[in-house]
Amino acid sequence: MLEFDEEDELFIGDKVLGYFGNCLDCGLCCKIFNYIEIADDEIQNVAHYLKMTKKDFLKKYTKKNRKLNALTKTSLKTPCQFQKSTRCTIHEKKPFDCKTFPLLINITKGQAILTGIYLCPQATYFYQGFLDFCQHHFPYLYSDLIALEKEASWTSLGLELTISSKPLGMYIDRLYSD
Ligand code: SF4
Ligand code: SF4
Repeated sequence: MLEFDEEDELFIGDKVLGYFGNCLDCGLCCKIFNYIEIADDEIQNVAHYLKMTKKDFLKKYTKKNRKLNALTKTSLKTPCQFQKSTRCTIHEKKPFDCKTFPLLINITKGQAILTGIYLCPQATYFYQGFLDFCQHHFPYLYSDLIALEKEASWTSLGLELTISSKPLGMYIDRLYSD
């Protein structure tokens, strides 16, 4: 059974979503997402890894993105230049945005952000399974989610929802105990 570590602020979606398939066979998000933010320390880190200067790295792999809230307002180019076939060539050093897509669970705030619903195959299977779980165990939450879907924001990567991490944690436990 998969367990949440209550000490972790962030529970990275990779560990959960592997249940529904394999990103290595897909790679869709790296091709189409416009807002893969890369923070200043990540820029330094990846540039160092590639043995490039920061200036060259910025010119070759990034673009300015006014829609981002971060101080740097810098994102990776679209499609991402680090993808070869469906693989990430900087997997060990990839930015936080890449590591957490499409599921970011912030335990201390009791929230999970699930994005890519109805676009990313893993996010969609995961969410549909969660809806089914709620319909049987948390009918009130199921109704809330259906209502939330109608108001939620669509990004270039499908639907994004903020969900309470508690029922989501129970659903994940159920998945891993089956
Ligand atoms: S779109 Fe979803 S399944 Fe495809 S690579 Fe991205 S996270 Fe993985
Ligand atoms: S850095 Fe890697 S994981 Fe992130 S978008 Fe590029 S190819 Fe995909």
